[in-house]
Amino acid sequence: MKNRYALLTSTVLALALLSCTETQHSESVENTQNFHLAQATDLFAGSSVKVKQSLVDCTLSNGTKTSCISITTTPTEATHELGPWCPRNISDGADKSGIWLDGGKVHNADGQFIANLAKFYKDSKWQLFNPETGAVNVTNSKEACLAAARPDVDPKYQNHCVECLPSYVDSRKAVTYLIPVNPVPLTNSQRVHPHGGIGLAFSGVKFDAPAPVDAILGAYTLAPFDDCGGHINPHAGYHYHAVTGCATEKDSIENHAPMIGYALDGYKLYSQLNKDSKEPDDLDACRGHEFSSLGYHYHVNDPGKNQILGCFRAEQGCALEDSSQTCEVTDRRPPPPA
Ligand SMILES: [Zn+2]
Ligand SMILES: [Zn+2]
Repeated sequence: MKNRYALLTSTVLALALLSCTETQHSESVENTQNFHLAQATDLFAGSSVKVKQSLVDCTLSNGTKTSCISITTTPTEATHELGPWCPRNISDGADKSGIWLDGGKVHNADGQFIANLAKFYKDSKWQLFNPETGAVNVTNSKEACLAAARPDVDPKYQNHCVECLPSYVDSRKAVTYLIPVNPVPLTNSQRVHPHGGIGLAFSGVKFDAPAPVDAILGAYTLAPFDDCGGHINPHAGYHYHAVTGCATEKDSIENHAPMIGYALDGYKLYSQLNKDSKEPDDLDACRGHEFSSLGYHYHVNDPGKNQILGCFRAEQGCALEDSSQTCEVTDRRPPPPA
């Protein structure tokens, strides 16, 4: 593949270097766009993700009309096993449970953690388990998961570990992401919308906005993530709130961190740390920087932060939840809470 990129890159460069007539200019734009489309196709190859082999019209988050790459995903596909999330008994170890993110740290959401919640949160109302048997209260149906995961948690599910299973998700429900083929930089960065997303892993799993931890804890519930930083929402499918090293990695240059996906604004997402286990020291407020031939890109945040990225430096594309939606300013329905 490297040779193909090299050929495409040199074609693009050669065209760009020519003093442009109108025709040459549009040819060069077309070649750059074809390069990016071919690159996206290669990056998602081997997954169930479908990259449309022609660009589509889209209107970005600040109103710019441009061309986007259309990427269609399935809701519960990943390159790793999904789960486990909630332990069943306070004697269950980390192998039978996922993780919880709090105070900038990743905690094992194991039986001991569940048993210790009242102390951990300094609130005696926490009682997620039966003191006699040690059995953990876990949501055990789609209805329970929906009622416990909604923003105003059904009081019946207070003091439950919330777990939604892949089987609760309609497997036909695909999401189509329209990612600008060329990022359109903003003068002022845009904050990540609580109901929007961050981007897309090369397996098609969504990198999501921060999990609403305060609302979850306020209802005396815990909605753990699996060890890969993901959990399931019956509407939106499996999605990540943290990057813990499970996402498919594409090797990068020199000491640089590997590439792990696309941000919604068209810039690429890279792992947090370079190969020397250090974070780049020149990241801006949106966790982006320019580096060598990679151009501008982001490095995801520490998993304990529950915030993969906080803002975008370019206009965002769209995540279309059904085929009736288009990527227009007037058709930006908020997706269901995740
Ligand atoms: Zn970098
Ligand atoms: Zn979530």
